[in-house]
Order: sequence, then structure tokens, then C-alpha cells
Amino acid sequence: MSQAYEYVTIEVTKKKPKKIHWLWRIPAMIYMPLVALFLILTGLIMSLTIIGFFFALPLFTIAIPIAVYPFAPGKFKTYKVTCPNCEKKTIVYQDREDYKCPRCRIPVAIKWQNYK
Ligand SMILES: [Zn+2]
Repeated sequence: MSQAYEYVTIEVTKKKPKKIHWLWRIPAMIYMPLVALFLILTGLIMSLTIIGFFFALPLFTIAIPIAVYPFAPGKFKTYKVTCPNCEKKTIVYQDREDYKCPRCRIPVAIKWQNYK
């Protein structure tokens, strides 16, 4: 018997990428990082107090995807996948290679299929 770690593979079809018109995309490349910068600055000011720091943390977390989004729209696409073992539904980001089912702890490998 092999010592290979037990895991299951599921197949997920990628969603058709939404084309953002350049007329929207170019301003978004300028404004969205600015919004992110504003959030980070607000977060930094809030961090000056101990309590403010806890409120500032989520600001930092959302600022990064906001800044990157116009450059890589596909990267933040989420998919609802079902665990083949216990049928627990989980949300995963596109191109993630695998995840561990939060309920039954089984490692699930994801095989991405291109959209048709
Ligand atoms: Zn499971």
C-alpha cells in the first residue's frame, strides 16, 4: 500500500471573464488605488489609538484587493464548491489548487476547466 495522502479531486468550470471596458478600466486603475490609499491613511490615523487599531485592520484587508482589482479582475472571482465527501459548500478563489474542507477536513484538489 502506498503512503500517498488521501485526497479527492473536483472539477470546476471557470466563469466567463467579464470584460471591463477600457473606458471604465483606466479610471478604475487610477481611482481604486487612490481609494485604497485613502483607506490605508485612514487606517493609519485610527491606529494611533489602541481601540482604533482594531477597526483599522479590516480597512487594510479590504484596501489591498481594491487596489489590485482593476489590474487583475479574474483573480478575485469566487466559486461555490461542494465537498464530495460531506457535501459542505465552501467558497474558493479562482485558480486555487486545493482547499481543506472545513467540516470533514478532507483535502480537496480543484481541477479548473476553462469556460465554454
Ligand atoms: Zn467535507
